[in-house]
Amino acid sequence: MPRLSFLSCLLGIGWSAVPVPAQPPSGPVQSNLNSVLWAGTAVEHDAALLQTYNQAKALLDRALRDRNWTAALEQKDTAFRSLPPAVIMDIDETILDNSPFEAQLLAKGAGTFDPILWQNWVAEANAPPLPGALEFTHYAHQHGVTVFYVTNREARHKAAARANLDRAGFPFKKGVETLYCQGERPDWGADKTTRRAEIAAHYRILLLFGDDLGDFMSGANSPSAHRREMSDSNRENWGVRWFIVPNAMYGSWETSLYGPAGDTTEEQRQKLKFETLRRIFTRAGPAAKE
Ligand SMILES: [Mg+2]
Repeated sequence: MPRLSFLSCLLGIGWSAVPVPAQPPSGPVQSNLNSVLWAGTAVEHDAALLQTYNQAKALLDRALRDRNWTAALEQKDTAFRSLPPAVIMDIDETILDNSPFEAQLLAKGAGTFDPILWQNWVAEANAPPLPGALEFTHYAHQHGVTVFYVTNREARHKAAARANLDRAGFPFKKGVETLYCQGERPDWGADKTTRRAEIAAHYRILLLFGDDLGDFMSGANSPSAHRREMSDSNRENWGVRWFIVPNAMYGSWETSLYGPAGDTTEEQRQKLKFETLRRIFTRAGPAAKE
């Protein structure tokens, strides 16, 4: 973090002299400001998406040729070898860009989420496609790969979600239901495992795409240390079978900071975030502990 290092040099002090406050500073905290600006304006954000989808095309070719290839943890026995190929795409922040909605939240001072504003945004069905997503999904579609869209948008928003994907130009296989929303069936909760398992029963799943650990495996809302273990135990999948795109605006990475009491107040959440800063601070090199 060059800014802090520069400041430390100016003051002639080491890292240990830059304390992390036990309490958040007083006054309003726009904790999502940089994240939304980055997602909405940074070419680095767009390049990361293009990098993901460009790489994924090459891996799709490999996966198609290799009958033993599957990306789904739900696909355990070998029966999948003879199944037709499919890919699974998450929607929000993976192929559709909701940064205009997040910007609206900030501009209105509406906090980190507002269900009414979200409902209105979803109904508008006007979220733009993210860079590279259209090209990749059409590439897969043209190669005979069924593209599934598995989203945690609720079942009551399904028609609007479909309208948005159509307007953005995403491909849909004729005669097959390929959009799976949360709550469409009693066992289709926020954990996407049951929906992946449903697809895995009929298709060989070549690649998975998402912006959240939950788009790849069960248990994304576990405590942070366990999430890291879950990710580390699948190192060989990242960038080969699993493609994750950056989302610093929201996700299970954030809610896992709050622990099981996810319904805490904004003030309590800010406090927990500042406590987490201490944990990051102790990960710095030896000089930090001098
Ligand atoms: Mg998402």
